[in-house]
Amino acid sequence: MKRTFLAFCLGLATAFGAPEENARELRVGRAGHAFDHLGAISEQAEAAAASGATIIYASGLGAEGYSGLPSAPVLMNKKRRAADYIRNAHSVGIRLVIGYVCATSMVKLETFDKEWPPQFRADFRTPPSEWRQQGRDGKPLPSWYGGDYEAACMNHPEWRAYEKFIVREEIDSGHDGIFFDNPTVHPKGCYCPYCMERFLNFLKREKVAIPDPSLEGIRRLADERKGDFLRFRSTIARDFLADMRAFARSLNREALVTCNNSLNSPGVFYSQCRDYGYNIWEMSQTEDYVVVEDMSHQPRVLANGQVMEYGPTYRLIHAIAHGKPVVAVTLAEGDYRTPPNLTRLAMAEAAANNASYVSWPTWPAKERPAMVAALRPEADVLSQQELVLNDTRPRRDVALFLPFRRWLETNRCVVLDLATVLSRSNVQFEVLAEDRFDLGHLKSGKRLPVLLIESESVLTRAEKEMVKKYERAGGTVLIVDKTPNWLAIVQQKSQASFTVEAPPTVRAVVRDQPKRTIVHLLNLNIERLSSTEDKIHPAENVRVLCRVPFGRVRSVWAVTADEGGLEFSAKAAGKETLVEVTLPRLEVATMLVIEP
Ligand SMILES: [Zn+2]
Repeated sequence: MKRTFLAFCLGLATAFGAPEENARELRVGRAGHAFDHLGAISEQAEAAAASGATIIYASGLGAEGYSGLPSAPVLMNKKRRAADYIRNAHSVGIRLVIGYVCATSMVKLETFDKEWPPQFRADFRTPPSEWRQQGRDGKPLPSWYGGDYEAACMNHPEWRAYEKFIVREEIDSGHDGIFFDNPTVHPKGCYCPYCMERFLNFLKREKVAIPDPSLEGIRRLADERKGDFLRFRSTIARDFLADMRAFARSLNREALVTCNNSLNSPGVFYSQCRDYGYNIWEMSQTEDYVVVEDMSHQPRVLANGQVMEYGPTYRLIHAIAHGKPVVAVTLAEGDYRTPPNLTRLAMAEAAANNASYVSWPTWPAKERPAMVAALRPEADVLSQQELVLNDTRPRRDVALFLPFRRWLETNRCVVLDLATVLSRSNVQFEVLAEDRFDLGHLKSGKRLPVLLIESESVLTRAEKEMVKKYERAGGTVLIVDKTPNWLAIVQQKSQASFTVEAPPTVRAVVRDQPKRTIVHLLNLNIERLSSTEDKIHPAENVRVLCRVPFGRVRSVWAVTADEGGLEFSAKAAGKETLVEVTLPRLEVATMLVIEP
């Protein structure tokens, strides 16, 4: 057995023949996402680049957009400034600058179109006040944000035309893509004529009989067919994004489009679809990648010993993201400032879960050098390991079934609870949503994972048949509500594949490539002391036993940005290889890479 330390530089990407340049920038490890502004601190491209970020989210002309545009000379000036800023960002190493556009907000409606030149105004038939989302009575719905906000309807053609103007301004000034914030539908639903027309077509496609196709008739149907109306509302942002993306690509064929997919806490995974039309399964069909903004689940240990983590949520998001890259902000207590080791842990946790982290390198000047110095090594380690971090599949000792359609019926996502238990137990699993629930996806290679289902009652008739077929093929199926000791059975069955002996705050995530197995080890036992300080409680003697899907192991190497560096021992036993690795000390994160 060869024992190697770090230092493994890769000639990246060419081997993968990445289809599009900008899309390639989203690959895990290569991408370091960052917001460049927070409160009074803005335009932090240089700090972002210095800390290792490669993709920044800039204000662009977003505020001008949601305020209704300043006078033409002021707008021209802002555009020129944005272009200069982007040029500079690119020159210091930022590869993509994504501009902000709000998908629904109109702020201060009374002055929204005050500065519009006559030729611009002539492009619109109706005033902005008529672009608002409408209630059942056809009157504008008050914004659920309160204050000066009014919510435009993403289906209103004139609002879309206005949004396209802002998109054009941003792409023209050099932005590489657009981040749409707040693509939401009023909690009561929008009953405007444009939404009703689309709802009618939605029902027709589903072969629903339409007794009365008048506006009032469709509004009545929306009230009668509540479930259908909710499902339709979930498609509004999706269709809006498709239109905006096609337009952005007509200006720059490499332009990327994403949006705020919300998910402010994992607990709203189902309910946000119903409450605000934030449906990741729908939106991820038409955005280039999925960005979520969690306010509280940054990985760490609280003073009372409670462990916070985002790993289980990453698994659920992947299950409904149509293979699109997943990017997350995970905050603690709603604070956008994160101390250095906790930022590193969040970056490593994202990478372990085939995702990328968004940081906020918006530090006051006096904190900047220390934060840059602390984050850079983690960003460098991840970017050097692009080949190891991508094109992997999660080790699947358990296939956890996610009937995502249940958002229509319940707020409680039992699958999230199950994923959390599996993650805590370091059982290796993948979440499969209903659109991948078939034997082909379940079988994957020679081994059959344990199929874990929350309850028989969530299965359709076809899915019940599939489960029987799976059992006939030799697969184990555990129905959680009928099997109180399901975890013990799962643990016993997955033991031969992977086990870790470590304190309960260590997480292990195993990912396989055809010729490589990667074990991500994360120490969640880091306390947040303030916005700038944290305290690591290192884990000691972490022992990993991992079976690898190739004949003979020639090398095990480890990568970390931890200060204590690397010390580990590895040995392989038997012909079908079981590798044992012991790590005397785990500070924040270490990757073990096992190769034939
Ligand atoms: Zn509408």
